[in-house]
Amino acid sequence: MNPGRLHEKHILITAAGQGIGRASTLACAREGARVVATDINAGLLASLASESPNIQTQVLDVCDGKAIAALAQRLPALDVLFNCAGIVPNGSVLECSEADWDGAFDLNVKSMYRMVKAFLPAMLERAKITDGASIINMASMASSIKGFPNRFAYGASKAAVIGMTKAIAADYVKMGLRCNALCPGTVDTPSLRQRIASAPDPVEAEKNFLARQPMGRLATAEEIAPMVVYLASNESRMVTGQALPVDGGVTI
Ligand code: NAD
Repeated sequence: MNPGRLHEKHILITAAGQGIGRASTLACAREGARVVATDINAGLLASLASESPNIQTQVLDVCDGKAIAALAQRLPALDVLFNCAGIVPNGSVLECSEADWDGAFDLNVKSMYRMVKAFLPAMLERAKITDGASIINMASMASSIKGFPNRFAYGASKAAVIGMTKAIAADYVKMGLRCNALCPGTVDTPSLRQRIASAPDPVEAEKNFLARQPMGRLATAEEIAPMVVYLASNESRMVTGQALPVDGGVTI
């Protein structure tokens, strides 16, 4: 039997409770990885462990530096870190308070700095005896690659993720560590459904989200997960420092 494209790889995924993080956890486990699926929401994690013997769950708030450092001490060295957690604040610069700005940067950017700083030293040690290690950071196509209305703090924070990704890739390119950013288009996930439901006109809001997608439909989380599997696997061993769109043609 084929052992899988991620056989024996140790992978940690943040925000694995739902959406892209969950679909990626299941896809990596199917490819033989040992996945530590983390999320701030224990209820969302509860059903994940029973999906595969390859999945172990752990509550983790990516804004809690102490909890991250403690987890990094406790776990075996990772081959792959997928920083998926993020939020989507709505609005223009004039609608963005300092608290909105700080909140977006804390969860979308500083969380990744915390995670990488805590897990990287052991990843680099392990990379010396394996085919290398991979960090995948969740950016977005929206307002970091292509401008969209009402994505001021979101776009700025996701563009910062791309910059951080390139800096990490450049610093460790000779040490067996690759680092790439993932830039999905509009994906049908629970938080997107919330954004649609909480809009003043939900029917119009859904129409606008669809209009952003040249393929005429939203992506599913399962259509983003294969790029995570690829970037986690040795198949992408020559790919580093990239912002990779999986956007259904938005950036054609
Ligand atoms: P989602 O927004 O539906 O779910 C987010 C998950 O993050 C939840 O399980 C939640 O419990 C968890 N979470 C929230 N705060 C956390 C914290 N402090 N620590 C740990 N976990 C926390 O999932 P999604 O829509 O797939 O989004 C996942 C990532 O993908 C985000 O970074 C988002 O910006 C990015 N993204 C999403 C889309 C989209 O259209 N859905 C497009 C491009 C990029």
